[in-house]
Amino acid sequence: MTAPSMTMDAFGDGVLEEIKGRVSKEQFGSWFERASFRQTADGVEVSVPSRFHRNYLKERYLPLLEDAISTVLGEVVGKLVFVVDESTGPLAAQLRPQVVSKVARSPVIPLKHDYTFDEFITGPSNDLAHAAALSVAEQPGVAYNPYFLHGSVGLGKTHLLQAVAHRLLEAGLKRILYVSCASFTNEFIAALAHGDVDSFRDRYRRADALLIDDIHFLASKERTQEEFFHTFNAVYNEQKQIILTSDSQPNDIVGLGERLVSRFRLGLVVQIQPPCLETRIAIVLRKGQRRELEIPLDVAELVAKRVHSNIRELEGAVLRLDSLVRHEGLPLNIENAGRTLTDLLGDEPARIDIDQIEAAVELEFGVTRVEMRSSRRSRSVVFPRQVCMFLARKYTRHSLGEIGLHFGGRDHTTVLHSVDKIRKQLPGDSRLRNSIERVEKQLLGR
Ligand code: ADP
Ligand code: MG
Repeated sequence: MTAPSMTMDAFGDGVLEEIKGRVSKEQFGSWFERASFRQTADGVEVSVPSRFHRNYLKERYLPLLEDAISTVLGEVVGKLVFVVDESTGPLAAQLRPQVVSKVARSPVIPLKHDYTFDEFITGPSNDLAHAAALSVAEQPGVAYNPYFLHGSVGLGKTHLLQAVAHRLLEAGLKRILYVSCASFTNEFIAALAHGDVDSFRDRYRRADALLIDDIHFLASKERTQEEFFHTFNAVYNEQKQIILTSDSQPNDIVGLGERLVSRFRLGLVVQIQPPCLETRIAIVLRKGQRRELEIPLDVAELVAKRVHSNIRELEGAVLRLDSLVRHEGLPLNIENAGRTLTDLLGDEPARIDIDQIEAAVELEFGVTRVEMRSSRRSRSVVFPRQVCMFLARKYTRHSLGEIGLHFGGRDHTTVLHSVDKIRKQLPGDSRLRNSIERVEKQLLGR
C-alpha cells in the first residue's frame, strides 16, 4: 500500500510518534500501532482495525488522541472521525511493523498545513526572503543553492521553509528531507550509537532536497559539523536544493567551522527583518480571518502597535481576542481589546512617538500641530505645546534637545522649563489632569 502523498504519511507518523511518547509500550502496541491518521477537510480521520478498537479508543483515549493530534497540527483539531478498516486487521498487521520501525529510526517532522506561501503575508521586511523561497521552490537546485535564510525568532523562517517543502511535495519530489538541525544531530548521534551510520548517510546524501531548520544549532558540535559537511557536499554536488535557516548569518554563528561558513555562503544569503506596522496589521487581519474572527481595523492597528518584533506574539494576541469573543461573549472593540492586550502584554505602553502625541493633543486642545511647531507665543498655543513636550518626555526616549528641535527649533532649556511647569501645575489643576488623562487614553489606545 503506497501512501498518496508524503505529507499525509508524515502527518500520521507524527501523530503516532506523539502518542508513543505518552503511553506505555504495551498500550501503544495494543491500541495505536495499527491505527492510522489522515487529515480531512474539516478535521482528522482515525482509521482502526476493528469496532472494538474504535469503541475502546473513544471511551478511554479520546482526550489523549485529541491532544496528540493538536500538538502535531499546531492547533486544536476540528472533527475527529473514526473509521473501521478491516484491511488493517490481523493480516495487514504483519506488514505494518516494518513501517513502524522505519518511523522509529527516522522521525519525520510533519509539515504544518498552513505554513504555505498562500498564508504568508509579505512586506518590505520579508519580500526578498519570500521571493527567493518562491524561486527556489519553482526551480530547486537551479536558482539559488544553497539558500540561507536568517533572522531573529518568530519572523517566519520555519514558515517559509515549510512553504517550500509543500511546493516541492506538490511538484512530486520524493525524497524531501525537512528536519530541524537538532533532529539531524540527534539522529546522527543515535546512528553512531547503534552502528547504523551507513543508512543515516544514505538517507541524507540521497535527498532530492535538503531543508534544515535552525542550522545554528550546529555550533560547537564538531563531529556533527564534520558529518554535515559531507552531507552538504554530496547533496550540493548532485545539484539538489539545500535550504538552511538560522538565527544569524553564517559568519556570525560562533563555533561554526570555516569551511561550513564558506559553503553556506555559496548561494544566496537573505535576512528576514521584523515587519513594519502595515505588514503587522495585515498579518493580524489575516490571522483573524483564518479563525473567522472579524477584527475591526482600529483593533488590528492597536494589536500591531503593541506587538512589534515577533509574529508569533502577534498570533498569540489574536488568539486571545478570539477567546474574548467566543468564550466571554464580548464585542471586539478598542476598549475590550485594549484591556485584553494589557492583561496579555503587561502595562508597558506601546512605543509612542511625538507625532502621535501631537495628534492627540491637537484633538484635545483644538490647536493644529503647525501652530504648535510655530513661533507663536499666545497662551492658547503655548500651553498645548508645553503639554506635548511634557508627554514627549514621559513617553518617548527623545532628549530635551530633540524635542526642542521638533517644536520649531526651541532650545533644551525651553523644553526643560515647559516640562517642569506642567509637572508642577498638575497636582492642583484638575482640568489639566483630565485633559492629560484623555490624551493618554488616546495614546495608549484604551
Ligand atoms: P521563525 O522560524 O522565524 O522563528 P516561524 O516561521 O515559526 O518563525 O513563525 C512564527 C509564527 O508567525 C508562525 O505561526 C508563522 O505562521 C507566523 N508568521 C511569520 N511570518 C509570517 C507572515 N509573513 N505571514 C503570516 N504569518 C507569519
Ligand atoms: Mg523556526
